[in-house]
Amino acid sequence: MRFDLITIFPEFFAGPLEHGIVRRAREAGLIHVHVQDLRAFTKDRHRTVDDRPFGGGEGMVLKPEPLFEAVESLVGHSVGTASEQNAQDPGTTIVLMSAAGGLFGQETARRYSRLQRIILICGRYEGVDERVAEHLATEEISIGDFVLSGGELPALLVMDAVTRLIPGALGNEASSHNESFSASEEMPLNAGTASKPTSHQSPVTRPTLLDFPHYTRPAEYRGWKVPEILIGGNHAEVAKWRRAAALEKTRRNRPDLLERE
Ligand code: SAH
Repeated sequence: MRFDLITIFPEFFAGPLEHGIVRRAREAGLIHVHVQDLRAFTKDRHRTVDDRPFGGGEGMVLKPEPLFEAVESLVGHSVGTASEQNAQDPGTTIVLMSAAGGLFGQETARRYSRLQRIILICGRYEGVDERVAEHLATEEISIGDFVLSGGELPALLVMDAVTRLIPGALGNEASSHNESFSASEEMPLNAGTASKPTSHQSPVTRPTLLDFPHYTRPAEYRGWKVPEILIGGNHAEVAKWRRAAALEKTRRNRPDLLERE
């Protein structure tokens, strides 16, 4: 999998690329990360990437030309022409990071993890000339309902979430199956509640749950004890407790996830 990050701050990425799972995935050759300085595609002496907004108003807007040329040089052909559709490689997505985009989530991360190439365009200032969203990017993605000062952190966040889903990226393969937002396969919605299981349950719903709580040593800390059942070593009981605890935590912190089903 290859990531291309297009940015006016190429140095921004040095730290995050050098740590943890992303670093290991790079070293193992599971991902290749190319950071593209947008200013390499400017032609004037001042290497201008932005300009004032048509219609007036505050701030500056990233110009379309360097962005189109940067992406075209990366993919090796022109984009946004009459051949727009034909030229589009199904293994590649061109993502504009944007507070006004569709919401990024674990499902999008899963979809991206099956691609060969993800090109992430990082905006700055007031944003990016809309023609980039219309004719260059194949997707416009937001990482949440808040406004950041640039697309670099959002791009890193997407890259991190996707990388850990690539087979081999996590030391332990099971890790990404049993965590928050992985659809649970065996747990009907009423698990862990007082309601009795009936022989005639509705077709198994697959709620999206948060992760179950984790504990490690010491078994007692400042008088707070680890749930007894986790110490007992009865795997079936532990599994049952974890399912119920995950559901309880989801109810408490993110009831919207359960209502969504
Ligand atoms: N005027 C814009 C915000 C521009 S912020 C608006 O109100 O929508 C500058 C850049 O930061 C954006 O172009 C985008 O690339 C990035 N950015 C800010 N918030 C973001 C978010 N929630 N998700 C993804 N990218 C974001």
